[in-house]
Amino acid sequence: MSEVEKYIKSIPDFPQPGIIFRDVTSVTEDPEGMKLAIDEMDKLLEGVDYDVIAGAESRGFIFGAPLAYKNGKGLVLVRKKGKLPRETVEMSYDLEYGQATIEIHKDSIKPGEKVVLVDDLIATGGTIEAAAKLIESLGGIVVKMVFLIELTDLKGRERLSKYDVASVVQFE
Ligand code: AMP
Repeated sequence: MSEVEKYIKSIPDFPQPGIIFRDVTSVTEDPEGMKLAIDEMDKLLEGVDYDVIAGAESRGFIFGAPLAYKNGKGLVLVRKKGKLPRETVEMSYDLEYGQATIEIHKDSIKPGEKVVLVDDLIATGGTIEAAAKLIESLGGIVVKMVFLIELTDLKGRERLSKYDVASVVQFE
């Protein structure tokens, strides 16, 4: 397990009873934690052939941006509905209670472009699966999904078995 684990604070019963919230603000607030997180996520990209990084709102932006900068790539923002100013495509997906909708600019991904998807954490994998479908609807190819944290009991990796999923720190 990575040394970055010691910077992740675990908060029981947030935002609701029974959930252990894995907090990445305690990683980003610490210069060493932030550096470790980015460097170790970056290692997961070694040898990957890709054109662009796409980050999922909002903590995916925190990690996606430095990875894009470090690797000389652009960053596509996968946002919650209603935030992007130009023409978008959208995708709705089920949450534990209700639904959510995310969108990206229609011209942000070109057909055949190879995309790495980045988020802070994979739980059920529902969010990132919807983001992948959006990218694919524009002809993009999701070549890798990179997370700082993976909650293994929630089996997101199984749900996303057709993708190459990688994470730095795993919790049950
Ligand atoms: P999911 O779609 O189930 O994979 O959930 C992914 C999103 O929910 C991630 O982007 C996380 O930011 C957030 N999330 C879900 N579960 C947790 C948790 N236990 N601790 C912190 N963030 C979480």
